Amino acid sequence: MIPGPNIIIKCPSCGKLHQRKSIISGNTCGAIFFSDGSRIAPMLPDFPYFVKCQKSECGVYFKIIESVIASKCDVYFNNIKSVIAGVVSRNETRDNLYMPMVSFMSFYEYLDCIDTGLFNSGKKGSREWEDDLLSLRISLWRALNIKKETIHQIIAQDLRFSIEDDEPMRKLRTKYRTPIKTVYEINCNEILSLLDKKSDDESLLIKAELYRNIGNFDMCESTLKLLKEPDEYIALITAIKKACGEKIPFTVRVEEDRTYIEIRI
Ligand SMILES: [Zn+2]
Repeated sequence: MIPGPNIIIKCPSCGKLHQRKSIISGNTCGAIFFSDGSRIAPMLPDFPYFVKCQKSECGVYFKIIESVIASKCDVYFNNIKSVIAGVVSRNETRDNLYMPMVSFMSFYEYLDCIDTGLFNSGKKGSREWEDDLLSLRISLWRALNIKKETIHQIIAQDLRFSIEDDEPMRKLRTKYRTPIKTVYEINCNEILSLLDKKSDDESLLIKAELYRNIGNFDMCESTLKLLKEPDEYIALITAIKKACGEKIPFTVRVEEDRTYIEIRI
């Protein structure tokens, strides 16, 4: 993997500058694949797409699209002030001299973002809005699935995630008190309804996995039968079918996926 320059992002609401990492090239060497379509790839890291503005008075949620990318500068090798000078107009304050790194949203932030909406999405009900909502809900689903080794304990003990404990996070935790198991099941059902009319193989695989996650093993198996080109996804289908047969609802590892992808950006 070759790390790339940090990308400078401008909040579409308040103009606050943030940074996001990037890569020049990466590959799936040593990657672990999961049945929800996610992966942990040390040589091909994911970067956040949905983020929260770090300026406390703003705090809107937005997606990183071309229009919010202020500059693709290499802050490692350039004088940071000259980088900022290129993207900050003279009348903006020194506040922008500090550019926080954007991170993946927390469980509570996903819930809040789904409730309040993305600042730079389409109008409510539009195709763009619906696509963003689906992506947000799938991201929330995967964020909870990634913790599959601990999710049993979290549900059993009704523990809350307590990673970030700053003031905004405390407020969100107070706002969203629904038990995680309920949030998880509601989210799975919401994704299923958003995918209702989609019948492409990738949507069908997500639907099959969601049915298994909520314990509807019969629907999982019958959905897998609708795939048009099952040979393309043989390792994934095998993993889902095996878990289904054993009545396991949780995300499982996809074994024997030898797919090696080299990406050069
Ligand atoms: Zn902002």
